[in-house]
Amino acid sequence: MPLGFLKSSREPNRSGSEAQTPAMPARPDRSVVLGEVEELGIGMFWATDADGHLSFLSQRALADLGDPDGALIGTPLSKVFHDVEDEGTGAKQRSIAFKLKARSKLEEQIVAVSDGRGGTRWWRLNGRPFLDAKGDFQGYRGSAVDISAQYAYDTQVARQSQVDELTGLANRRKLGERLTAMLAAFRVSQRSCALMMLDLDRFKQINDTMGHPAGDELLKQVAQRLQSIVKDAGEVGRLGGDEFQVLLPDMDDRGTLGELANRIVQSLSQPYQINGRRAIIGTSVGIAVAPYDGVDTDELTRAADMALYSAKETRGGTFCFFTSELRDAASKTAILGDRLRDAVDRNELRLAYQPLVDPVTNEVKCFEALLRWHDEDQGYISPAQFIPVAENDDLIIRIGEAALKQACIDAQAWPDPIRVAVNVSAKQFIRPGLRKAVAAALEASGLPPQRLELEITESVFVGDLETVDATFRDLKKLGVRLALDDFGTGYSSLGYLKHGHFDKIKIDQSFVRGCTENGDINPAIITAIVALAKALGMETVAEGVEAMDELALVRERGADLVQGYIFSKALDQEQVLAQFADGTALFRPSGPPRHRAERITIFRKVGLIHEDHYYDVILRNLSKTGARITGLAGVPVGTDVVLDLGHGQLVVSKVVNATENSQGLQFETSLINDGSGGFMTRHRISPYSLAEAGIPLAALGAGAFPLAKWRDANKTIPKFVQLELSAPGL
Ligand code: C2E
Ligand code: CA
Ligand code: CA
Repeated sequence: MPLGFLKSSREPNRSGSEAQTPAMPARPDRSVVLGEVEELGIGMFWATDADGHLSFLSQRALADLGDPDGALIGTPLSKVFHDVEDEGTGAKQRSIAFKLKARSKLEEQIVAVSDGRGGTRWWRLNGRPFLDAKGDFQGYRGSAVDISAQYAYDTQVARQSQVDELTGLANRRKLGERLTAMLAAFRVSQRSCALMMLDLDRFKQINDTMGHPAGDELLKQVAQRLQSIVKDAGEVGRLGGDEFQVLLPDMDDRGTLGELANRIVQSLSQPYQINGRRAIIGTSVGIAVAPYDGVDTDELTRAADMALYSAKETRGGTFCFFTSELRDAASKTAILGDRLRDAVDRNELRLAYQPLVDPVTNEVKCFEALLRWHDEDQGYISPAQFIPVAENDDLIIRIGEAALKQACIDAQAWPDPIRVAVNVSAKQFIRPGLRKAVAAALEASGLPPQRLELEITESVFVGDLETVDATFRDLKKLGVRLALDDFGTGYSSLGYLKHGHFDKIKIDQSFVRGCTENGDINPAIITAIVALAKALGMETVAEGVEAMDELALVRERGADLVQGYIFSKALDQEQVLAQFADGTALFRPSGPPRHRAERITIFRKVGLIHEDHYYDVILRNLSKTGARITGLAGVPVGTDVVLDLGHGQLVVSKVVNATENSQGLQFETSLINDGSGGFMTRHRISPYSLAEAGIPLAALGAGAFPLAKWRDANKTIPKFVQLELSAPGL
């Protein structure tokens, strides 16, 4: 909505009695149109400055707020528009302050406003961040509709009922009461309880393109699927709109919770049949567990909500557990967004090219273009981190088009049949204009279309599939090749492969890495994908191959191409050209003979408990089964210790190797994946047990449990020497 006509906030409004404009000027003054729109009762308009203060309110808005003189201009928006405690009216929403901070769009956000005469009115807001020509954030521009009458009625109906009429599930009110009662009872009996918050991805798109009755039908089917997965393990409810909730009593095993969340994500992303048309949506899930992440309804709900927000931010179609770091995630996203915008303006993003190699001949066939961003302060920032941020607004279009253009120019300098593969974000794909951008990039560089490949993930198959189909046909007409990226990770769209859109499937790294471990089912999956691709005439790529044994396996299973550190990391254009200048287009595999359990390199202060002492140590790396720490001297091999990873995550371990100041630990029980690339313990030490050790529960911040028991009980002589953690070499 280009609301560029919203000029100065104090500009006199000409829509009232003074608007005696001459009869129909050739181009009506925009503010006159604005006034007319308002008079029709269609809406009101508002704007803020970059600090979130109201800078404009249209005439009717001022009247409704009982502020004809505009005294509210300059007030923080969140002081004028208040969040509503919703009662099942379909308006469950994140707080307005939260959204402003994250600079998200406001969509159908319901707020309460004071009418200036002691009464309350309810408005439905829409708005979006507004950027100036340089791409700098200038504040919000938005509209509002008064929905007071409907709202009051809906609230009253909702109050009387416990059931969501559309789906027959428990409604928000009932869920809230259940959760409050459960948490109160469980506090006494020290039981745990998990809360899952679900939000459908791209539901709005279905509603918009296929109509509200179709949207309703879809919600009913979602409810049925959810219920058939959760069964008696918990209570499923609909909060309103496209948000659902699952309450799971006596559940604190994050392994089981992750599996359940995964099954929900998988099931809800299978295609739906609605009035003879197919539609696909995704879902994101946020999970919080009482008492670890919160002990009352408010705390736990907020925690699950933050986890949900993070799941949606990372890429949608996934789940996320609450961690205390998520608390400031929204502001971090906003900061990263600002930095990124600057970096794009200053042209600081670069492309690097990773080879896709034929594993039989070692010849390179294609390079994948990967974005690289080196920030002066933060160092290297991964595209996995900044692409989702760019996807929040139009930045992804600028970045995506620039990457396309540059990649085509660079590839034109390579020997003829060698192709370049460019990633296209789902957000970029579903916007109109992609075909044009691709055509322009080809034309500007002179690259033949068959040497350009677009990598697309399964997440484009959402919403109305006919529109998606049309985009595919457009692109195919240009003659470019299409590759299905990260195959097997998200929405399952096997049906889509049959449509013949794709020339190539990229088997996701998660199937490849560790596929040589005993008992792993991934080799079977790889074989199946390769067979399927062959049957449909598609090429296959195995991604993320790092070890020689993995290379042997994927070659034996028939993958046509291999991409991974085993051949090369991404190279810059000069290195690629140097490679060809040598007259060779060969890459030799080199890497460890066998896959090693995934280790994450970290540098984080954690705790180590030995007998009755609590030591501070630095965690250097972490895998599922062990860790390396520094910071203690003289710890013999064989010592039994407990590693404190924070927030009640205690890991019973044994020292299995040691140098003077560094120890390798082996865990008694393996850690599990946290759903976003890290590891966590399956269970946590309950704050109740800590409370028994003398810490009052109220003193525990949600999710943060200092192990004061050990810290304070230092009565005997410590066995090991605590080194200065800031010492060089640690
Ligand atoms: P992707 O498309 O799945 O790209 C492959 C990623 O795997 C790259 O990470 C690559 O460096 C990494 N990789 C390749 N071989 C190995 C290996 O053997 N071991 C390991 N551990 N990793 C390997 P990168 O460059 O960090 O990119 C991450 C993601 O960011 C990409 O995943 C892609 O989704 C996104 N991305 C990167 N560039 C662009 C772009 O220009 N546009 C868009 N829309 N997304 C991009
Ligand atoms: Ca890719
Ligand atoms: Ca990939």
